Amino acid sequence: MEKVLAAVRTAPGKTEIREYPMPEIAADSALMKMEVAGICGTDVKLYKTPPSAAPVIMGHENIGVIAKAGREFVRRKGFKEGDLVFVEHYVMCGKCEWCHAGQYRHCENTDWRNNPEGIRYGYTSAERAPHLWGGFAQYVYLPWNAVVHQVPKGVSAELAGLVTPMANGVEWSLFDGGVGYNSTVLIQGPGQQGLSQTVICKQAGASLIIVTGTSKQITGGKGVDVVLDCTAGAGTLPILLGVEAMKRKAGTMVVQGELKEFPNFPLERVTVKAITIKSARGHSYKACELALAQLASKRFPLEKVTTHRFGLKDVDLAIKSVGGHGVPDVIHASLMPWL
Ligand SMILES: [Zn+2]
Ligand SMILES: [Zn+2]
Repeated sequence: MEKVLAAVRTAPGKTEIREYPMPEIAADSALMKMEVAGICGTDVKLYKTPPSAAPVIMGHENIGVIAKAGREFVRRKGFKEGDLVFVEHYVMCGKCEWCHAGQYRHCENTDWRNNPEGIRYGYTSAERAPHLWGGFAQYVYLPWNAVVHQVPKGVSAELAGLVTPMANGVEWSLFDGGVGYNSTVLIQGPGQQGLSQTVICKQAGASLIIVTGTSKQITGGKGVDVVLDCTAGAGTLPILLGVEAMKRKAGTMVVQGELKEFPNFPLERVTVKAITIKSARGHSYKACELALAQLASKRFPLEKVTTHRFGLKDVDLAIKSVGGHGVPDVIHASLMPWL
């Protein structure tokens, strides 16, 4: 029987290459041959402190080619064999109000936090048939409710590998932060997420974009309109600096930390400045489509953001490098399972 190779997280900070059987494809399903899996700060976190003890094929920013597609999959979803696609890591239930609104990220029926049976790429146990629930593998299984986007013509698989940080850029800065013409923006964290936010804010017409990890200001004391926290594991400091950087009234902070507690939270400063705090929670369908259009526009040389490539056997090194321990100076890394 034909086998599929996958890099499986078997314990915190530990990866093994395992073989799985090539799955049978149901009429309403498809199989994607992986081209590129993007690696991000979430991988670093999930690798160090996995949310479960189950073996998991990580990889949640997945670009590939439809290798096999069942008849119903083609009819319902409009994709065919040979199409280059981006598959979101959210898998919708298709029934709830959030899914109907295209906000699969809020679907409670498929969120692993509420429903251990819910499928999410890069999170679901590899013990669950047909096993291929993550992008650090040669193939990924697509059930009828996978959320699939066509990669526009002229966009390579590797460039499309940036779609997730770019979609977060659209979602957080434009939809949540309301960045637009003449906005002033503080982006905290100069990694791939911060860079993607910068590109989107620039395209949207922001007049001043400060990318930093500190509150050093060039706003003439006026402060910024919008603060986007793109730091990873920086504790409470980015929020405290963000509150200070926001000198004007009625700005917006988009936050994404998952600290359990925030001792001495400066609530008075927040309310006196009339700051709105919003949560960055991934991206919507629309944000993904806009991100793909941004990549296709070639307006910015975004291929330069991808600094490193790793093969399947180097998943461990790749994740550690993105986390700052391993190969130095990684901004964005492509995991290419066939390399
Ligand atoms: Zn990610
Ligand atoms: Zn749903």
